[in-house]
Amino acid sequence: STAEWQSADSRHFLHPFTDFKGLAKKGARIIERAENIYLWDSEGHKILDAMSGLWCVNVGYGQQSLIDAATRQMQELPFYNAFFQTATPPAIELAEVLAEISPPQFQHVFFTSSGSEGNDTVVRMVRRYWDVLGQPARQIIIGRNNGYHGSTMAGASLGGMSGMHAQGGLPIPNISHIEQPHWFELGGTQSREEFGITAARWLEDKILALGPERVAAFIGEPVQGAGGVIVPPSTYWPEIQRICDKYGVLLVSDEVICGFGRTGNWFGCETLGSKPDLMTFAKGVSSGYIPLGGVMVGERVAKVLIEQGGEFNHGFTYSGHPTACAVALANIKLLREQDVVRKVREDLGPYLAQRFAELNEHPLVGETQSCGMMAAVQLVKDKAARQCFDGALEVGMMCRAHCFANGLIMRAVGDRMIVAPPLVMTRAQIDEMMALIKRCLDLTLAQLKE
Ligand code: PLP
Repeated sequence: STAEWQSADSRHFLHPFTDFKGLAKKGARIIERAENIYLWDSEGHKILDAMSGLWCVNVGYGQQSLIDAATRQMQELPFYNAFFQTATPPAIELAEVLAEISPPQFQHVFFTSSGSEGNDTVVRMVRRYWDVLGQPARQIIIGRNNGYHGSTMAGASLGGMSGMHAQGGLPIPNISHIEQPHWFELGGTQSREEFGITAARWLEDKILALGPERVAAFIGEPVQGAGGVIVPPSTYWPEIQRICDKYGVLLVSDEVICGFGRTGNWFGCETLGSKPDLMTFAKGVSSGYIPLGGVMVGERVAKVLIEQGGEFNHGFTYSGHPTACAVALANIKLLREQDVVRKVREDLGPYLAQRFAELNEHPLVGETQSCGMMAAVQLVKDKAARQCFDGALEVGMMCRAHCFANGLIMRAVGDRMIVAPPLVMTRAQIDEMMALIKRCLDLTLAQLKE
């Protein structure tokens, strides 16, 4: 029964990013099965999953070709490593396919099992790159406040989540941060486009303050996801690119959320306008059916590491896990056969944007933002003054609770409500999601007036 699950859960399972005691009091919601874009909990409630699990189930639940690929590969060769100068066919084939769908500078991949491991790999790889080039002083990697790059020591250090830095002695040395390109909060009286340039120039200021000869790389998500779907102005990434080029700083695009079609191209850097040297990925590569991640290594870095680097002392038991790679191959095949990425770019993304823009009429909504199949609604106290609620009110959590009760999973980041639904949704399902969102905004407003 649900009560039995909850009791065992609270006795033994420490959930990520969770106040353990608070959850034990409340009891976890037990999710038992899923199909397409819907989940069912242990009480039989149907829930529309507007977060694709955790930004990952891009092809939706229950795709038989992914299940079959895992089964076949497990029967043939469930696991073998890539340490002993060995490789398995699915890992080789996936490396080839990733090179095909990535921007042309990417012909090599280093596999991990998660996005955090991918970003840890980046830290070691870019420092190794500069070492090999005889510039060991280039150690510093610049990230952004409110960015999220994972939970390992290096991943959480690259990220700019203050709550994470407050625990466990982070950031590790030689990581620095600049402010995020969040127009609604920081844009003042500037237009979005002007602000995009201003925000990018914070990188130049930081590079000059640290000394360009000490800066190894800059890392950012094309669209900040966990930070609240912060879609930067169109001027931002091209200016970041110009600055990185000017000072020779490596550019790393964290594509863990934005990769594999989410923004309407295979990778977010293509939508937002940068040409990175490295890209990290995870989540959507296997639609979350099985853990897999990695780093796409661009020509500039690959050439140095391959031709002059010698042994790179880094790797994971599961780097190139054959079953994970087989599932990823089936996932990418499905995305290609169903032309999903183009549909997001030309049809579903613009439709989601149009439907989200309609929410601007709502008295609680200060702004809406969207990019491909990810979108955000900023809840505010005073629309005209761009004045937010007192954080203690936890209006986002209030709204999230209404969503949960009404059969919708929407995430709250402070008072910003976000979605990143599966890419295989229909327009009718977008309408269904929007009706639920509207209802939950109304319920939140009514609660605030009580
Ligand atoms: N990078 C980004 C942009 C993410 O959103 C996440 C996870 O949400 C990560 C990295 C970390 O990935 P993982 O949880 O697979 O370690």
